[in-house]
Amino acid sequence: MNENCYIYRKIFALKSNLFLLSFISFFSIGFAQQSKVESTLSYLSSDELKGRSNGSPELMEAANWIANEFKEIGLKSPSFATNFLQEVSLVSIENKHKSLILNGLSISEDKFFVLGQKENFQITSPKDIQLFIIGEQDDVMAVFSEINQIDRSYAVLIHPSHARRFEKLYRYFSRPKSELENKEAKFSLWVMTDEKSIQSIDLSFINNLNRTIIYNVIGELPAASTTKRKWIYSSHYDHLGIIRSVDGDSIANGANDDASGVAAVIELARKFSEGDAPEKPIYFVAFAGEELGIFGSRQLASTVDLETIEAMINIEMIGFPNDDLGPQSAYITGYNLSYLPKDMANNTQTNTFMFFPDPYTYLDLFNRSDNASFAKYGIPAHSVSTYSENDESYHAVNDEFENLDIDHIMEVIDAIYGSTLPMLELKYDPGVIDYKTKTDR
Ligand SMILES: [Zn+2]
Repeated sequence: MNENCYIYRKIFALKSNLFLLSFISFFSIGFAQQSKVESTLSYLSSDELKGRSNGSPELMEAANWIANEFKEIGLKSPSFATNFLQEVSLVSIENKHKSLILNGLSISEDKFFVLGQKENFQITSPKDIQLFIIGEQDDVMAVFSEINQIDRSYAVLIHPSHARRFEKLYRYFSRPKSELENKEAKFSLWVMTDEKSIQSIDLSFINNLNRTIIYNVIGELPAASTTKRKWIYSSHYDHLGIIRSVDGDSIANGANDDASGVAAVIELARKFSEGDAPEKPIYFVAFAGEELGIFGSRQLASTVDLETIEAMINIEMIGFPNDDLGPQSAYITGYNLSYLPKDMANNTQTNTFMFFPDPYTYLDLFNRSDNASFAKYGIPAHSVSTYSENDESYHAVNDEFENLDIDHIMEVIDAIYGSTLPMLELKYDPGVIDYKTKTDR
């Protein structure tokens, strides 16, 4: 053995020690992330949180827990939030009294209804309302969806030949349900009558408005540049709470739906916060109110300057591999509506993981989660999911932590991170989404 050889062996030994060290630290970081994701999942899906129903103290507890995670990661609370919490006010309306005299005729209670978030009001002048007539020959539903877009108070007189339609609408709107509170809310009056004008009106109404306050949890990662082109990574942390008991279990734990998405958002926040900040700013969001009607995301969409939101990746149910696609894959809803999903698929770094188009376009998953609240404004906003069509744990008491495949969740998180990281460079522009097409096909 000569000297050179000795030195070589020393260097080699040093190198292999370094190699060993980096190997160990790589795995310990990997394990640390995995155990963090695992503890997020086991906490959010625990029986203690009673299924995280909207309005429950347990949902509030979960909100504060997620806010604390964002704080520890070093995210900033956005200006419109307090300690990472953005208020979402929901109201459900219960009618206590109504009466209507139209053109001198008293209208019976089952022939009219009023929509709107008003506690009590009286209208005595036809000048205050815009009038629409649905005549004998008109298509009720066509007129209905057109009128629905109008942002001012109005009255609709529906010809009695549409009695069956009217009754259906009446029944549907009499069902108590939550809506986003809108302080400037207008009202609409729907009357079944053959009157064709309003000469005089005396309408009075008393409602009970029951308010529920829930909170979105939002953390902001400021950008390395001055651009305002913001990205959103989101999921929802609310679930169904206590539902019909099966074998003595009545807690809908929502481990897959959508604790898995929340764990991913927290983990993505951690990954993007490490090292150099991306060139574009990011909101990491855990929405509330999704299960009641994507209310949290609708609230955020009405709060932010939509011009500044460049894209949104929503994460819905990535708890275990999809039955049809198998492991190491996920699908993206609204795949063909913008360039973003294809670009994510192309950017996937590993040669094992793949992003696919949503295989269940007929289920309209694209419009059924929080991404829809932003997509409808033309923003490329998609959901990443591995939900399976025939998943029997969906919205059931057995959506439990035990079903989750942590390795799979980690792989999906890594794939979202790796495929969108290059998109956070200023040179990438995702364009707009073709929301009106509303279908993948
Ligand atoms: Zn969900």
